[in-house]
Amino acid sequence: MKNKLQNLKQEVLSQLAGIADIFDIEKVEKKYLGKKGELAAVFKELKSLPEKEKKAVAQQAQQLRDEVMDKIVELKNKFGSIDEKDGFIDVTLPGVKIEGGHLHPLTQVQRDLERIFLSMGFKILEGPELESDYYNFEALNIPKTHPARDMQDTFFIDQKNKAGEYDLVMRTHTSNVQVRAMEKYGAPLRAVALGKIYRNENIDASHEHTFYQIEGLMIDERISLANLAGVLKEMFSGFYQKEVNIRMRPGYFPFVEPGLEVEMSCVFCNGRGCSVCKKTGWVEMLGAGLVHPNVLRAGGIDPDKFQGFAFGTGIERLAMLKYGIDDIRLFNSGDMSFLNQF
Ligand SMILES: [Zn+2]
Repeated sequence: MKNKLQNLKQEVLSQLAGIADIFDIEKVEKKYLGKKGELAAVFKELKSLPEKEKKAVAQQAQQLRDEVMDKIVELKNKFGSIDEKDGFIDVTLPGVKIEGGHLHPLTQVQRDLERIFLSMGFKILEGPELESDYYNFEALNIPKTHPARDMQDTFFIDQKNKAGEYDLVMRTHTSNVQVRAMEKYGAPLRAVALGKIYRNENIDASHEHTFYQIEGLMIDERISLANLAGVLKEMFSGFYQKEVNIRMRPGYFPFVEPGLEVEMSCVFCNGRGCSVCKKTGWVEMLGAGLVHPNVLRAGGIDPDKFQGFAFGTGIERLAMLKYGIDDIRLFNSGDMSFLNQF
């Protein structure tokens, strides 16, 4: 019996030494310590031994059992438990969903517009938001005493420029890019500028003090209102993903001559008349016109040789009409339930 225990000890120790994972531990535990395991069999045999021998063998068997149990606990700590509560990996369970972000709706709209104009061969330009009086007003045919300065509520900056004059403003329109672009690229020129602009406005559902505009400028020989109409029709049809019509009526902006207000056939009712278009079938979209000769001259372009058109409109306005948004303040509200819809 003693020999048998001795052999059993060697056998179990060599098996424990060869253990490589949690499943091996389970097997060895069951084989030696289980109810029908090898050690249980030894204890059963004890009954048939003579009293003298019984005590010594029982002691040995218990020692072996303790040794094996200690070793198994040690190995379980090393390989982890097979218990589901800690460590067992059920590969059939669904994975944890990773939340992905997305672009802000205004960024998406700007990218859409950029794609449309790139396809027509336009450059995408940027301009400074902190601008000199010259590029924001003077160069655009709006001299200091011009009444048109009152058309836009301007944020003037209380800081002198390099020449020691107070002439900095937060740009009131993306039109500040016009003369900068002419100076840099000359004619012919096809460009759009998208970006943030600032107006000292009271805020309500349709007015913000900071919003986005897109400015378009095309200069070449023999540019006419027909070119303007064609480009705008292409822009609106591409942006709203449906064929639209446009119509123009006279409007006044100091940097264009003639100046125009451009309307688009209502994308909600296709011109039949609805609440969005106030039953007219038309929606006012933007201001435009042929570039004023004074502006071309300011940009170093000869108005006797070249003509151009320019237009500008609010990007929020385009987006609100596309998605049926009725409050401009939502865009910068940080309201995730609004933003997550895009
Ligand atoms: Zn309508």
